[in-house]
Amino acid sequence: MDERYGLSPFHHAELFVTLAGKLVELMTFPFSIVPKTDDERFMLEALREAWKAYRAKEVPVGAVLVQGGRVIARGHNQVEMLKDATAHAEMLCLTAGASVSDDWRLVDTTLYCTMEPCSMCAGALLLSRVPVLVWGAPDVRHGANGSWVDLFATKHPIHQVEIRRGVLGDYAADLMRDFFQMRRKENEEKDNG
Ligand SMILES: [Zn+2]
Repeated sequence: MDERYGLSPFHHAELFVTLAGKLVELMTFPFSIVPKTDDERFMLEALREAWKAYRAKEVPVGAVLVQGGRVIARGHNQVEMLKDATAHAEMLCLTAGASVSDDWRLVDTTLYCTMEPCSMCAGALLLSRVPVLVWGAPDVRHGANGSWVDLFATKHPIHQVEIRRGVLGDYAADLMRDFFQMRRKENEEKDNG
């Protein structure tokens, strides 16, 4: 036991590993963005979540839920790790948000997603009564706000969603492009090796 700090050498090592991990994460985050608006500030947080997914070799999508000017829940895509097609960033974020709020009605919240949400996540957002959606890059394959289908095109009898699109979208798209390039390269190497 190290008397000066009341910590064992093991704890020092653990602390070092944790701090080093945080440092590596900070240093390797590929974007230096100075947010100009609140939307950009929170989208940057969602991009950090997407980066966590990228580092875990998951399709890089991130989401944060904001209430009263602060982030109350976060999520990043974990489909591969959880072996669950529904483990999208937005779904995990909404579930975490409901848990924190102790209420499934996420009124007075804004959901920030790095990508245009898919039909499942758009549906979950409607059911959770999230009133504001902000997304980054369009998803041509699954996007449910116009790229593939538009779940918000028809006015809902009760629930209105305010939507802002394209916030820091180039960064989210870059991350996605880079991820699929890396994966293609890995697959080619596997085939050649
Ligand atoms: Zn989704």
